[in-house]
Amino acid sequence: MIDKPRGTRDFLPEQMEKRKRLEQRMRAVFECYGYEEVATPTIEHLDLFTLKSGEGIIEETYSFEDKAGRKLALRPELTAPVMRMYVASLQMEAKPLKLYYFGNCFRYDRPQKGRYREFWQFGCELIGTERPEGIAELIALAYEVLKESGLRHLILRIGNLDILRRFLDGIGARDAEIMRLIDKKDFDELRNRMAEKDFDEFMKFISIKNLDDIPYEEARDMKEMLSFLEELSVPYNIDLSIARGLDYYIGTVFEIDAPKLGAEKQLCGGGTYNLVPLLGGKKIPTSGFAIGFDRALVALEAEGYAFEESAKPVYVAPMQDMVSEALRVAKTLRKNGIKTDIDLMGRNMKKSLDYADRRGMNTVVIVAPDEWQKGNVVVKDMQKGEQHEVARGDLPSFLKKFHS
Ligand code: AMP
Repeated sequence: MIDKPRGTRDFLPEQMEKRKRLEQRMRAVFECYGYEEVATPTIEHLDLFTLKSGEGIIEETYSFEDKAGRKLALRPELTAPVMRMYVASLQMEAKPLKLYYFGNCFRYDRPQKGRYREFWQFGCELIGTERPEGIAELIALAYEVLKESGLRHLILRIGNLDILRRFLDGIGARDAEIMRLIDKKDFDELRNRMAEKDFDEFMKFISIKNLDDIPYEEARDMKEMLSFLEELSVPYNIDLSIARGLDYYIGTVFEIDAPKLGAEKQLCGGGTYNLVPLLGGKKIPTSGFAIGFDRALVALEAEGYAFEESAKPVYVAPMQDMVSEALRVAKTLRKNGIKTDIDLMGRNMKKSLDYADRRGMNTVVIVAPDEWQKGNVVVKDMQKGEQHEVARGDLPSFLKKFHS
């Protein structure tokens, strides 16, 4: 027997049902905010990701050479592909552009609960504006997508990299390694790397909750953005320790956590970035976020969320020699938009009813010769044990009322 690759999952019908429902809900929120869906290939040139994230990304990327010797990678995220697509095909569009995506990503991570080697991201890119109302709407969207998915406990933290960098410049402690350590929240190592006084100042700085305590003009812009967020009724916390690692992030950065989850509690990360010139496009403000779809599902399960079950099909069970007639009944029901299943095993009536019962199908249409002669079929309610003889022509409308 061949097992699936480490860190990947099969989704059985029951899980797929949940995933589909969550996907529909999330998709609806993006569209409600005027975003349009885009899709890009699962494989890209490896360069796209090293350009965005540096050579270090290769370690955690599934990359390979194709038969012509091209270096390709399974996408580890979707911002770079969407930006590549923007530069290639959408630069002339009226702005702002609002694009969203849902797709699988691959990372050579160490698998654990909430962390997989194949996982799905929902996300979006807002291209062409960096105005505070634009950023506020973007953050509100991220929050709403998660809230509308049914999650009750969410913590939104908002920081600002211009402010953080200015502070670090001020104490002469700004470099890529420090930013990386801040991103990882490795305070022990940060203490080692900073003078004691600077470290104390840093800890004081990242605990600031009132923007009036910050003397830089960037704090005014942040305040305006936050006032719009309040207008949109989105609860937030100020967290100036958000670093998000990479250099092209500028200005606002934000993360949303599900406090119920342990180590892998971050559901969403995003912010403003300057990526388009790196990919050969004309400079333009862009911002966006990515939501970990699988993690959102884990969080919903941890909160005990009751997923709605989808309706089971009506089951058509023919008596002997009535297969053609039964197929005709099934065809009519499906034409009428009624979810219908039919015996495909030549079972006798008792076994057919047992099967319907085991599959949880409560409404069975029995196609029997005597009733058929009279132009009728029998509708059986498995739970109540009731039976009704119904004229074939009336069956779709009868079932629409009877089978819900
Ligand atoms: P990132 O692109 O690293 O900012 O990730 C965005 C979101 O994707 C994170 O907040 C997580 O919710 C989710 N995510 C990242 N890596 C994984 C993974 N290996 N497995 C599942 N979800 C992930």
